[in-house]
Amino acid sequence: MTRRVLVIGAGIGGLCLAHGLRQAGVDVVVYERDASPARRHRLRITPEGERAFRECLPAPVSDALVATSMRYTKGMAAYDEHLVRLWEHNDVDDGDLDRVDAVDHRTLREVLLAGVDFVRYGKEFAAVSLTSSGGVRVRFRDGTSDDGDVLVAADGADSAVRAAWRPADVPRDLGVRAIVTRIPMVRAIKGGLPEFMRDRFTSVVSADVSFGLLPMEFRPDAGAEDYYMAVFNMHRDDLGVPDDVLFELPGPALREVLRNRTADWHPDLHGLFAHVEPSETYALALRASVPVRPWGQGPVVPLGDAVHTMPLSGGAGANVAAQDAAALCRALTAPGLLSEGLAVYQADLVRRGTAAVEESIRMARGSMRID
Ligand SMILES: Cc1cc2nc3c(=O)[nH]c(=O)nc-3n(C[C@H](O)[C@H](O)[C@H](O)COP(=O)(O)OP(=O)(O)OC[C@H]3O[C@@H](n4cnc5c(N)ncnc54)[C@H](O)[C@@H]3O)c2cc1C
Repeated sequence: MTRRVLVIGAGIGGLCLAHGLRQAGVDVVVYERDASPARRHRLRITPEGERAFRECLPAPVSDALVATSMRYTKGMAAYDEHLVRLWEHNDVDDGDLDRVDAVDHRTLREVLLAGVDFVRYGKEFAAVSLTSSGGVRVRFRDGTSDDGDVLVAADGADSAVRAAWRPADVPRDLGVRAIVTRIPMVRAIKGGLPEFMRDRFTSVVSADVSFGLLPMEFRPDAGAEDYYMAVFNMHRDDLGVPDDVLFELPGPALREVLRNRTADWHPDLHGLFAHVEPSETYALALRASVPVRPWGQGPVVPLGDAVHTMPLSGGAGANVAAQDAAALCRALTAPGLLSEGLAVYQADLVRRGTAAVEESIRMARGSMRID
């Protein structure tokens, strides 16, 4: 039986799913509103996430994923804002040279999009309804529409499909505001980044700030610029910048917030903020889907951040989105009733999503004040 699957959102989960379905011969189309390149930040990849990517992706795409990834063997260390070491953890290198430990978000999306013919750009989701034959009809802001057997909401944390289909499922605001930025590695090192912070994940915890500095060091032939992702987290009450101001601040002004807020930190830490890329500096709110709820019976199903938004402190959202994609691909290609396959998928999704959200919140709570 031929099934037609409509996916809203060409992000990590939506593209993994489409690759998996296309390999299995399923008719799939991905509708994406935005053709611009994705933001550049580092994504930690877990063993479960890596297995899911490899399950969904054709071999050449998997190979490109490995070639543009980072293998990370150094562990992490935590300091206070005066660079007094609190603890450290060293990883054990298992010698697996093909292991994927981290990727750059923009590069990953480019790898997933290279040469595909199943993505339609400029298609912003507007509405969804059921058809008389038990399928779905999706409408787009440009006035066009499409019909399919299944609609997959893979449109991220601010999912418009969720707002239309499950309007009560609103992620909870954890009260923390993150300022995310990127520092080219060469510039940070030239600017005096201490040797002991260069090759590992550094966490800085002060009374009211949690800060992470994470190296993204590509494999030698990847031809990309190595960098540090820096994430500065503070409760909105302590930050003292109202949301309507914060989320409109341009990169240079956000850099000034970082410089002012770290003025009394150790000079080697404070000095880092002189080198951030203002054009790649932005603020976001940490949110979480509590509880993670299934979307009920029927042909509209979610994956990824659309159903289980979580704080980025857990480094898990992209991994869980890829695991969802692999599981949904299995459900959509298994013999038997579609409704039964989707019910099993959703039960599994809720279990996996709940565990990841809880763990991300637990990790956030360990280093920052959350509501
Ligand atoms: C700074 C930062 C660091 C992170 N670090 C990690 C990490 O280390 N490890 C990890 O696993 N995760 C990490 N994450 C989280 C991870 O990026 C997300 O969980 C992941 O991208 C979610 O994938 P997704 O496919 O659900 O949604 P997304 O990747 O967000 O994709 C959603 C897509 O839907 C499109 N879309 C949205 N609305 C519409 C609409 N109305 N119509 C059509 N298209 C639409 C969007 O343009 C986008 O392309 C991090 C996130 C950030 C911001």
